[in-house]
Formats: sequence, structure tokens, C-alpha cells
Amino acid sequence: MNKKLKTQNNIITKNSKATENLGQLMAKELNGGETLALLGNLGAGKTTFLKGLAKGLGIKQTITSPTFVLIKVYPVKKKNIKQLVHVDCYRLPALELMAIGLNDYLNDPHTIVAIEWANKIKLPPKTIAIKFLHHKNPNQRTITWSKKFNKKVY
Ligand code: ADP
Ligand code: MG
Repeated sequence: MNKKLKTQNNIITKNSKATENLGQLMAKELNGGETLALLGNLGAGKTTFLKGLAKGLGIKQTITSPTFVLIKVYPVKKKNIKQLVHVDCYRLPALELMAIGLNDYLNDPHTIVAIEWANKIKLPPKTIAIKFLHHKNPNQRTITWSKKFNKKVY
């Protein structure tokens, strides 16, 4: 799977563990300052992916959806990365997000911002889009990401 991540930017996962694994692998490609837009319907696997990503960043806390708390901040001690900020825009007006300082997080080179339902807000052009698509098979998802990772980190 590591090789695949280097050369392609989509994958079909057959269970939630595989989606978590993808998140864990992708975490190793991040340096701080990245914004990840997680796109896809309810239950498509956005939070599942993020659980893996958090694990890959060395976060021990359980990642839960921040739907009712606007934003969650998890400290990170890896490379240049000091925190993972998890935002869920599902029920959130964009103005509120700006009011709670999302822009400061977006501009911080030591922060990774991961945003569920990111299609609801305007994000920097460098944002990495990660799309999650349901299949007819209930445990299968197609996941597509916009950035070609090609660093030899694994
Ligand atoms: P979202 O955050 O996009 O609303 P979640 O990650 O919270 O979605 O939920 C996805 C649900 O689908 C979980 O219950 C998970 O166990 C299940 N699931 C089944 N197959 C997969 C898969 N291949 N990838 C991700 N989740 C899956
Ligand atoms: Mg979610």
C-alpha cells in the first residue's frame, strides 16, 4: 500500500480498518501547515480516516466527531507539527468558524487542519482535497486525494 500512495491518488478500501490505514500512511507525508478538506456524505468515512491520521501523528486520544463542539485541538509532537485541528462544518455557519479563529489555524505552519464538510467554506488554494465515496457494497469506499505525494519517507 505504501508504494501505491506514492504513485496513485485513489484507492478502494474494503473495510474501515483499510481507511484508517490510509490516514495513518498519509500522516507521514505531512510536515505542518497543511489543510485537508475531507469531502463526502454522512458515513462515507471522513472521521474514520482521521482516526488513522491522528494515530499516524502519534495522537493517543480517541478522535470523535466535533459536530457539537465546533472544533477540537489535539497536541502533536512530530517533526514541525504542534497540533491537529479537527473541524466539522456539518452544522456550522462559516461565520462562526471564522469567529473561533479558524483563519489563524489555517495560516499556522505548525498546525494541520482537517475539515469535514469543507465544501461549506472557502479554503486556501493549497488545500488538499480528500474525497470519500460510498459503494453499493456497504463496506467499500473509493477515496481520492488531490495531491501526489512523492517524498521517499517510507
Ligand atoms: P463520516 O465522518 O464521513 O460521516 P464515519 O467515518 O464517521 O463517516 O463513519 C463511517 C462508517 O462506515 C463507520 O461506521 C465505519 O465503520 C463504516 N465503514 C464501513 N466500511 C468502511 C470503509 N471502507 N471505510 C470507512 N468506513 C467504513
Ligand atoms: Mg464525521
